[in-house]
Amino acid sequence: MEAEIITIGDELLIGQTIDTNSAYLGQQLGKIGISVSRKTAISDQENAILSAISESQSRVNILIVTGGLGPTKDDITKKTLCKYFDCGYRMDENVVNQLQKMFEKRGRVMLETNLVQANMPEACETLTNEVGTAPGMWFYKNNQVLISLPGVPGEVYHLMENQVIPKLQKEFNLPMVEHRTLVTVQKAESLLSRDLESFEASLPNNMGLAYLPSFNTVKLRLTQKVENISDISIDHYFKLLQQTIQEDVFCLEDIDPALHVSRYLIQQNISFSTAESCTGGWVAHRLMQAPGISGVYPGSIVAYSNEVKSKELGVPSHIFEEDGAVSEACSLAMADGVRKKFGVELGISTTGIAGPGGGTDKKPVGLVYIAVSYKENSMVKKFRMFGNREQIIQRSSNAALWMVKQILDLPTEILP
Ligand code: AMP
Ligand code: MG
Repeated sequence: MEAEIITIGDELLIGQTIDTNSAYLGQQLGKIGISVSRKTAISDQENAILSAISESQSRVNILIVTGGLGPTKDDITKKTLCKYFDCGYRMDENVVNQLQKMFEKRGRVMLETNLVQANMPEACETLTNEVGTAPGMWFYKNNQVLISLPGVPGEVYHLMENQVIPKLQKEFNLPMVEHRTLVTVQKAESLLSRDLESFEASLPNNMGLAYLPSFNTVKLRLTQKVENISDISIDHYFKLLQQTIQEDVFCLEDIDPALHVSRYLIQQNISFSTAESCTGGWVAHRLMQAPGISGVYPGSIVAYSNEVKSKELGVPSHIFEEDGAVSEACSLAMADGVRKKFGVELGISTTGIAGPGGGTDKKPVGLVYIAVSYKENSMVKKFRMFGNREQIIQRSSNAALWMVKQILDLPTEILP
């Protein structure tokens, strides 16, 4: 089954708002076995809307339109849909009641323009929107279902989850699509694909493996499409995938590896701090995602200058003279120093040259030293990161997480 998406709004075309709705819709539709064959972005103009909609008629059975449902004059999608379906309006009492309740709850006065939101095209079935004022709409024409949703992303999520997906599943005989994702860190995509060659060759026809690389991490997503629940065999192959690249698996969930690390630190009650030079606190920032982290995290030091490195972290001055601030010795001294300073069990440090300036022949842009110090052990590594400044910072933070995994022998799954 195929669908198309049309996003409506002048702001999308001038780049003022980035179209995140269609990315979300693509993901959600994919999960229920509907593939998106085309996305179109158009302006808030009647002609543009009418022609985009009618062109899609001959191509797909499902069309999802987002945007242009606000109460203001610039939003004309509803009016245009009435024209397209050749119908008038009816006041939907359920929407009126729901709007009244919503405004009461928010302590706001309902204006005449808000009530217009309850005026629904006669040809549509209303999709109740409990988180906003613009309901969604469900239409039929010829062999097509046309679904119109508001532009506000949160309302799109709400309507999709609660109304559209269940309705689509009821309406169409859709295949089941199962996904399993794992995350790897510090292993190149090409090396992974070499190691997974025979695994991929062994996959049944209804299963596929996708590689999603991003700055030293690669997400591996296994997907299976089946007609019946009894045909699902994805868990067997997901285990096989894990066994094939055992050493490289960071976590068995589609999450930021930093969240995986922080959950483990909380669960095991391992206190930690970071001492960051070239990453400027980015490692700490990423580790802050897990609620409850404050129980194991007293603070960090962002130490750019040698003065801060020595004053706050106790890096001895001979290290700056003999090895320099971007060195193995400095990195180790920073990780140990931050442990002492905050009295924590795990110290993580980064020092390097993020560029674009500041590189030399001996210490080029992208040279980064990372150290982790845990109980009686410590580990330091030299990396040559590539990419621009932002990429070097992101890659360095991933490398730091990978080293934490090594020193803690982090499991790939955190069981409660
Ligand atoms: P509208 O329904 O056109 O009034 O849009 C309401 C809000 O949602 C505006 O702030 C838009 O910028 C935003 N919006 C509209 N379309 C999209 C989209 N495709 N992706 C993300 N945001 C959007
Ligand atoms: Mg708009």
